[in-house]
Amino acid sequence: MKMAKTAKNTKKYQKLTNFWAKFVNFFDAMLFPDNIKCIFCGRDINNFEEQPYCEKCAKKLVKNDGNRCRICDEKIGNEAIICDRCQKQKRSFKRAYCPFIYEGIVRQSLLSYKMNNRRYLAKSYAKFIYNYIGEDFKNFDVITFVPMTKKKEKERSFNQSKLLAEELAKISNLKICKCLIKISETKEQKKLNFNERKKNLSNCFRIVNEKEIDDMRVLLVDDIITTCATMDTCSKLIAKYAKSVSVAGVARNILKDENKDD
Ligand SMILES: [Zn+2]
Ligand SMILES: [Zn+2]
Repeated sequence: MKMAKTAKNTKKYQKLTNFWAKFVNFFDAMLFPDNIKCIFCGRDINNFEEQPYCEKCAKKLVKNDGNRCRICDEKIGNEAIICDRCQKQKRSFKRAYCPFIYEGIVRQSLLSYKMNNRRYLAKSYAKFIYNYIGEDFKNFDVITFVPMTKKKEKERSFNQSKLLAEELAKISNLKICKCLIKISETKEQKKLNFNERKKNLSNCFRIVNEKEIDDMRVLLVDDIITTCATMDTCSKLIAKYAKSVSVAGVARNILKDENKDD
């Protein structure tokens, strides 16, 4: 009896949050209409198609540029081709692509995309990734995304990575496929060491629709690449069937901690 009541209340709460999400989206669309305003600060801009942000924000943007690891795309201070971490540990993906560093206005914007349901941002994010990958796009046949558990997706009302992958598929004319599901929640990764992280993650995901990725060159999309551990785990599963796996995200979250492996 008590359980039924709790379930009913959760449903009620869900409806209410979905209502507010729609409400916020409606005002967002009015305040930040597609193709007029800077996606970071809302100032009017001249040519949204060319650059969806204003000159002031352009100065604040931290791009992922300079010498970067050819595998994980993390900035490296020296002239090395592959970073120390990728040299020590073999990645399951071929290459990572991340146009920005996860800080400042990019971080705020991505948080707002996810937490405040600002779905319209996905289009611009996808474009950033598309331009960043550039010529290399010819190396992919199909796009997929990092899944969420059903429960989490319902709570948030959308999967930010899936929406991003859908927009990327539209721009690139590639097919999108759902080849992964998340069957259990990942525990907090921060406090775990590398081996614990791997173990923690490996049981969370499972492959579905393997025929769709059979012998394909797959691009796996997530919003932020914080732990290459997640990308590694998902890529490993996909690579059992696919010809190759590369990964892409809007921003690279550089953790300061030495223990990370990410
Ligand atoms: Zn701006
Ligand atoms: Zn690397």
